[in-house]
Amino acid sequence: MSDHSFATRAIHAGQAPDPLTGAIIPPIYQASTHVQDGIGGFREGYEYNRAGNPTRSGLQTQLAALEGGASALSFASGLAAEDALLRGILKPGDHVLLGNDVYGGTYRLLTKVLAPWGIETTTVELGDADAIRQALRPETRIVWLETPSNPLLKIVDIAATAEIAHAAGAIVVVDNTFASPALQLPLALGADLVVHSTTKYLGGHSDVLGGAVVFADDRFYDQVKFQQFAVGAVSAPLDAWLTTRGIKTLAVRVRQHSENAQAIAEWAAARPEFETVFYPGLSSHPGHEIAARQMSGFGGMLSLALAAGPDAARAFAESTELFQLAESLGGVESLIGYPPDMTHASVRGTSLAVPENVVRLSVGIEDVADLIADLEQGLARIDV
Ligand SMILES: *Cc1c(COP(=O)(O)O)cnc(C)c1O
Repeated sequence: MSDHSFATRAIHAGQAPDPLTGAIIPPIYQASTHVQDGIGGFREGYEYNRAGNPTRSGLQTQLAALEGGASALSFASGLAAEDALLRGILKPGDHVLLGNDVYGGTYRLLTKVLAPWGIETTTVELGDADAIRQALRPETRIVWLETPSNPLLKIVDIAATAEIAHAAGAIVVVDNTFASPALQLPLALGADLVVHSTTKYLGGHSDVLGGAVVFADDRFYDQVKFQQFAVGAVSAPLDAWLTTRGIKTLAVRVRQHSENAQAIAEWAAARPEFETVFYPGLSSHPGHEIAARQMSGFGGMLSLALAAGPDAARAFAESTELFQLAESLGGVESLIGYPPDMTHASVRGTSLAVPENVVRLSVGIEDVADLIADLEQGLARIDV
């Protein structure tokens, strides 16, 4: 598969037709255990489904192929994937350096769940190379970055950051949820591991939770695989199958998400009601040049700061109709959210807090003229 291009791999990797019946779509192996041909006589290595399941194996092969990785492991959620990665690699006394606008759930996992087990975490502005160098310690094991970030769409130079981290003996994990591998391949830019909430663009239809760890090589696979097996936060067969089905249309969906978001960003940039449009596809965005270099498109996420302030932002988030008010992102349907009270409520009052006049859009793949008309009627309904 590795000599095929991205869209082809997304459809075929790990998805050979069923050898028994020729069914073009491999079946959902909805089973908890596998019959043995004599004690220890496992067929294709399958034994008990916490250890392995053929539907999950197909998804894992597909995920590795998408990111250009050596292997991948899939989990019940993005945070379950992150937890297995962190506990597989870290030991008490280790330090993790995070971007200062990291996904709130990642921050919570490290500072609330893992801190009592001796893991230290600090945050830094990842756009500032000197600040990263100063924040690195001898104990720093992982530099964790997200680009574009959530919700302000900051861009981090993956290759430059990896160089700094590696020079200090740390490894680099990229949360590639926002860009998806259709737009950005962190392993090729020097990252050691990629994590995903497959709940978002990879699944793509807001109908399944999931997460993944993708490995550049075999250094960390056994440790994380052991966590997957020993703890058991695996993807269920139906969830793995739905994620696989979503991935097959990733390339075409992300192209449309990006095209629609670019049009909305340009529309919003010309409206006086918005004081800032956060979208890396705009040449005015501070990360535009790096994004143009390390991504093949700018994605479907954008945020808008309302000039009239927090009350207007809240009212706007409640005034749209096609853009439905909900957490999450990356589905075919457009969503709007008010980060300070929704996705980022857990970091309110911390150094990771989000400006109170910002709304976040996950731009879907509906007709973009309908989407812009919806935003216009929303503005008309609020007092700005
Ligand atoms: C949603 C999300 C996660 C967590 O994934 P879940 O599937 O919700 O557990 C992690 N990182 C980013 C960037 C996300 O958007």
